[in-house]
Amino acid sequence: LVRAIAVTKSFGHNKVLNGVDFEVRPGEVSCIIGPSGSGKSTFLRCINALETVDGGGLEVAGAQVGYTLEGESYRPWRDRDFAKFRAGIGMVFQRFNLYAHLDAAENVATSLINVARMDKAAARRRAMEELDRVGLADHATKRPHQLSGGQQQRVAIARALAMDPTLMLFDEPTSALDPELVEEVLESMKALALGGMTMVVVTHEIGFAREVGDTLSFFDAGTIIESGPPASVLSDASSPRTRAFLDKVL
Ligand code: ATP
Ligand code: MG
Repeated sequence: LVRAIAVTKSFGHNKVLNGVDFEVRPGEVSCIIGPSGSGKSTFLRCINALETVDGGGLEVAGAQVGYTLEGESYRPWRDRDFAKFRAGIGMVFQRFNLYAHLDAAENVATSLINVARMDKAAARRRAMEELDRVGLADHATKRPHQLSGGQQQRVAIARALAMDPTLMLFDEPTSALDPELVEEVLESMKALALGGMTMVVVTHEIGFAREVGDTLSFFDAGTIIESGPPASVLSDASSPRTRAFLDKVL
């Protein structure tokens, strides 16, 4: 579902992605760890086309990101292609990015109404189903400030799921949460994984990676220097840089 081959990306003279090779098959949960500034968020943002790549190939859900195959040749996306692509990918950030003036159900329903063009009553029903899935049916009429950080993050997950994404991207979804709220969010993510969702998860929650991840990749200075089944990456990491990082987070 995602295949990156030698992806590069620079901001000015700063080469942030330096040849990333990465693959996720349908139904897989792929976890990414690595030091601050190593390019993890930038890579996720390339996958959902929030950033453009400079070189290499990046194929997501059958599309060469940024291009559409037309006959024998590729042409750059138009706005419509971009919107369609983005609608198929759910993204959950470290900060929940909920609309402060809308209640939980309205937060979930808003893309259904504005992007999927669903009528308001149907969108509300769908929003309630999604809130129920993350255990928040009883909190539908609360605004973000009336919810805990963990609940807000679960609303953000419900909002992404409402669009029926083929792929979910998570960028350190629990790192802004108080420790006692981390588990409820990880539980929602785990349920999603067990339901067969394809997920790319940047996280330093090693327990989650070990239990739920099919693969674990270690980013360092814009490349993946270790990748494989989490248990083996965690136990046999061969590079000193991976070891040094793991010794800090484990
Ligand atoms: P963290 O663990 O702190 O979230 P990260 O691995 O997600 O780090 P990125 O956010 O991808 O790292 O950033 C990698 C590098 O790219 C950093 O040096 C950062 O300053 C730079 N960078 C990221 N986004 C931009 C941007 N829009 N413009 C310029 N530089 C950027
Ligand atoms: Mg980041």
